[in-house]
Amino acid sequence: MNRLVVNCPGCGKKVVWNAENRYRPFCSERCRQIDLGAWAAEKYTIEGNSENIPSNQDSKNHSVTEQ
Ligand SMILES: [Zn+2]
Repeated sequence: MNRLVVNCPGCGKKVVWNAENRYRPFCSERCRQIDLGAWAAEKYTIEGNSENIPSNQDSKNHSVTEQ
C-alpha cells in the first residue's frame, strides 16, 4: 500500500493524504482556516516573486463568476 504524505501548506507538518483526512492537504482545520483567511486577506500577494501570480488574479475587473 502506498501512503501519500504531503506537507501541510499551513505549518509544513507532514500530513497523510487519505480519504479520512478531510482537511487535506492541511494537517487540521486550524491550518485550513489560516490558509483560507490568508487568501481572503490577500496576504498571498507575492513579495518579490511576482512571476508566480496566476494570470486570473489580474482579472479583477471581470466578473468573478465561474462555472
Ligand atoms: Zn498544519
